[in-house]
Amino acid sequence: MKLGFDIDDTLINLREHAFHIYNQKLGQNVGLDVFHALPSMEIHSAFGLTKEEGGKLWHSLRDEIYYSDCATFPHAREALNQLVAKGHEVYYITARAKEHTDRTRQWLLDNGFPVAEGHFFCGMSDSEKVHIIEQLELDYYFDDKPTVLATLSHLPIQICVKDRSYNRHLTLPRITSWEELPRLMQG
Ligand SMILES: [Mg+2]
Repeated sequence: MKLGFDIDDTLINLREHAFHIYNQKLGQNVGLDVFHALPSMEIHSAFGLTKEEGGKLWHSLRDEIYYSDCATFPHAREALNQLVAKGHEVYYITARAKEHTDRTRQWLLDNGFPVAEGHFFCGMSDSEKVHIIEQLELDYYFDDKPTVLATLSHLPIQICVKDRSYNRHLTLPRITSWEELPRLMQG
């Protein structure tokens, strides 16, 4: 089978990683309880920043957020390596900006994720993901972002949501821990 994965906040805990970096850079100590209760994807409101200030800060720290020691979600790397070992095809589809293509691919490899030639797609907008997912004729696709998932509902593939605080209203099949993946695939 062919399985596609978003990266940020689907396979790796990027927003929480960024939350720690924001605390450090802003000299604040906002608790993780605030993070876990965030109703939206953006983290700037937890630090009293406007959308514009938050956007600027994210942009200025983006390299550090992306390429420092962001934690992967438990069992994500193992689950994907097990898929490949069983003969399945693993694809990555990330809307990180195009200039991050090579470094993001390398980061995945350095962190133990299986990345086959031609299985890594980066630099499309959220609304363009659907075209790649459709062309690849995936059997499964996993993402955390409600606006992306909403563009996929007409596709004849199994769409699954990675559980996060801001997507609990979605009624799609849900992955809370990557250990659940084999069971989810068995239906
Ligand atoms: Mg994501």
